[in-house]
Amino acid sequence: MTQNPNNFTALKPANVDWDQQTPISPHYDDYYFSSDDGAEESRHVFLLQNRLEARWTTEPKPNSKQSTFTIAETGFGTGLNFLCSGELWRQCTHSRQYQQLHYISIEKVPLKKADLQTAISRWPQFQWLLAPLLAQYPGIIAGFHRLHFYQYGITLTLVFGDALESLQTLEASVDAWFLDGFSPAKNPDMWLQPLYQSMARLSHEGTSFSTFTCARPVRDGLQQAGFDIEKISGFGLKREMLKGYFKGDQPSQERMSHKLKPWFHYDVTPVETGRAAVIGAGMAGCTVARALANRGWSVDVYEQCQSISSAGSGNPTGITFIKPSVYNNPQNRYYQTAYLNACNTIRTLLEQHQIEEGTHWCLQGVIRLAYNDAERLEQNALLKLGNWPEDLLQPLTREQLEAQYGIDSPYPALILKTGGWLNPQRFCQTLLQHPSIHLKLNNTVTKLDLYQDKWQLGNNCTPYNAVILANAFQSNEYPFSRHLPLRPIRGQVSYVASNNESKQLKQPVTYDGYINPAHDGFHCLGATFTPKNKSADELEEDHLWNSNQLQQALPTLHQRLGMDQAYPQKGRVGFRCQTPDYLPVVGPMPDPDRYLQQYAPLAKGFLRKPFAKAKYLPGLYVSAGHGSRGITSTCLAAEIIASYVSGEPQAIDSEVLKAIHPARFLVRDIIRRKR
Ligand code: SAM
Repeated sequence: MTQNPNNFTALKPANVDWDQQTPISPHYDDYYFSSDDGAEESRHVFLLQNRLEARWTTEPKPNSKQSTFTIAETGFGTGLNFLCSGELWRQCTHSRQYQQLHYISIEKVPLKKADLQTAISRWPQFQWLLAPLLAQYPGIIAGFHRLHFYQYGITLTLVFGDALESLQTLEASVDAWFLDGFSPAKNPDMWLQPLYQSMARLSHEGTSFSTFTCARPVRDGLQQAGFDIEKISGFGLKREMLKGYFKGDQPSQERMSHKLKPWFHYDVTPVETGRAAVIGAGMAGCTVARALANRGWSVDVYEQCQSISSAGSGNPTGITFIKPSVYNNPQNRYYQTAYLNACNTIRTLLEQHQIEEGTHWCLQGVIRLAYNDAERLEQNALLKLGNWPEDLLQPLTREQLEAQYGIDSPYPALILKTGGWLNPQRFCQTLLQHPSIHLKLNNTVTKLDLYQDKWQLGNNCTPYNAVILANAFQSNEYPFSRHLPLRPIRGQVSYVASNNESKQLKQPVTYDGYINPAHDGFHCLGATFTPKNKSADELEEDHLWNSNQLQQALPTLHQRLGMDQAYPQKGRVGFRCQTPDYLPVVGPMPDPDRYLQQYAPLAKGFLRKPFAKAKYLPGLYVSAGHGSRGITSTCLAAEIIASYVSGEPQAIDSEVLKAIHPARFLVRDIIRRKR
């Protein structure tokens, strides 16, 4: 059956046959690695020919400021090349000149976790990295998955999808390429000219590559794309293989056609770690502070209130959850990736800090009721497409809801299995528990000045290499950020005392509203959505609305909570920071005056003009406008900002980066002649 191109791709896990312990793909009729000694093959073909050890330890760096070395691979397979690279990286710990190894790998037919484990089990020396890899190995769902191994200075960006499509939207500066698809004769789709062109776009002078094949079309294709080629002896019985370098003569991209949208172009420039200021200690600020501290930055977090997580992130419980969609557009890709990223980040961090699951957090699933026809149709379409694997999402009949989760529901549902709830304040506290993060409460930052490429905050003389605005509505109160259209949307939650029966509820349940499991003796029910009301006072009618939504969705629970007798009297009013397109603002801050000048011809319809690349305010970034989805959205946003700040490969594709880009409103305004 052909797939609808507007829908997400439903990936199938690899079907694996075994020759003793060596995995074979029946589909491609080829071995994943040599049955003689896969690890030795990997060292010969990839590590040695890219001269990794020498480049990591003794050879001059291409840029003295570069702190991350990036390898990109086509075909993750069993992860053996990744593990061999990790092993060499660890052996060089005391002599290497880079702080981070960033390994990007693209895989269209991912192995199941169990097959990956079986394939690698013969090499116990990789256990130190294999165990955390398996713990974080993502469900088989298309898109970007970022896995951190902070204690070893290793990051893995696993992209589940087609190599060519993924490389065309990757944002990275690659130092070494491992071309490891199955043989060109058996898998021609992996060895296409546009793929080599994409490699060239992501390479710099001196970027190396190697591959086990010596096939003529591969040689010619790489040469045409600007790589110098050398034929050398292959591993074992393979006579020849290829290695080489990028010559660095890609056409200058200084001036680009409007089709490439130069106003969103941002170079992945190498930077040293330094000192950063984060403005705002809610979810957006705390996640970004931690992401930077984990990369070796010293971070000061400025908060105007006397406690952290007090404004938009101040509800007692919140959920990490999305409404999965069949439609593959940048908005859905952002939230899908953000959800998966949040689940992994929250679990890894809270387990590392030994905060027991069930106390201040619980990621044992979120239930989404099929509470009306539209929702039921959407859920059916999603299940039919099958792009979410069973370990991430499952349908539940009414009977299963009752038997497995103790929920008496008039409707069937879906469960998002790795989502759940947490106490945002406790999560933020944990994020800030890092020796390189310094919290400065009661500190309002009203002024930011750029002085010799460093930022100063008001009268504070500390120079910062990077500043991240994560202060919600106040993010657009600086002279250079007024173009960000952030508006407050009032939302009221209601608190309802839990009882012995209601405490059995372990999963948040969502419908037109939501109810969270009991925390500190009460459930949090939400939430109203009233953009025009600016009042911070609790309203009876809003408590009634929250109560009515629960009554319609789960009448039995509503009754058990005594809400048929009296609707809730207590709750909290918050203001979500929202953008007009319901996507957050995440990325580098444009220089608005230069933008207006540079791209003014867009207003006159001069779209064919070649435009110059955008100018940004150096070192200034923003993460805001997360609306009611802060818990789900901010972990990925932090990862994106930290990747910009530290010159690392990006955590999501370039189309999504454009969709959340802080300059998007400025450009729209120019085109619509509003400026
Ligand atoms: N590097 C792997 C390892 O260390 O185990 C072995 C890779 S195996 C020889 C080739 C891999 O490329 C397979 O896992 C296969 O599913 C993947 N692959 C094949 N065609 C692809 C494509 N068009 N896009 C992405 N991955 C592809």
